[in-house]
Amino acid sequence: MRLIFVGPPGAGKGTQAQRIAEAHSLPHISTGDILRNAVAAQTELGQQAQGYMDRGELVPNSLILDLVKERLQDPDTALGWILDGFPRNVSQAEFLAGLLADIGQTLDNTINFDVPDDVIVSRMLARGRQDDNEETIRRRLEVYREETEPLIHFYQTRNCLISVDGSRSIDDVAAQLESDLKI
Ligand code: AMP
Repeated sequence: MRLIFVGPPGAGKGTQAQRIAEAHSLPHISTGDILRNAVAAQTELGQQAQGYMDRGELVPNSLILDLVKERLQDPDTALGWILDGFPRNVSQAEFLAGLLADIGQTLDNTINFDVPDDVIVSRMLARGRQDDNEETIRRRLEVYREETEPLIHFYQTRNCLISVDGSRSIDDVAAQLESDLKI
């Protein structure tokens, strides 16, 4: 099973991706986690990415595309994966479509986590991550609306989108995903 999780920051994508990944032995590929680890380890990637992350901007595609390309060719991803936080804009989605065609993989579904802004802001403030201060949250939401939300249309037109109400409890969302995905 190959899935993309799309949704605003704080929508619960990571939590749900982790649950499904564990339950179905799929690798959970979170570009945000990869970047945060790179920042913590002070690698060159981390040093280049940190400023963008602290400001709530997307890191440039040049930092992220090769990384995803390599990760999707690791042996553990042969039978499936969950991409969480990638693609984040239409050019990343086009890159991914080309990459999957090249490596002979097909996407099964994109899950769109629908959550109103007020729920997002209160969840993110409660989470307390380094990039979860109010100003950055506001910027990340703007970036989501401008750059990432167009992906909903992108995958809808390819008949590859399921929307879930991400404002419900973790267990309710998990149950709906299991039933929508028939897993
Ligand atoms: P996340 O944990 O997915 O919310 O990502 C945290 C931060 O990492 C984002 O605010 C971006 O700065 C950066 N990031 C994560 N994934 C991507 C991506 N696919 N493209 C560009 N930037 C990303």
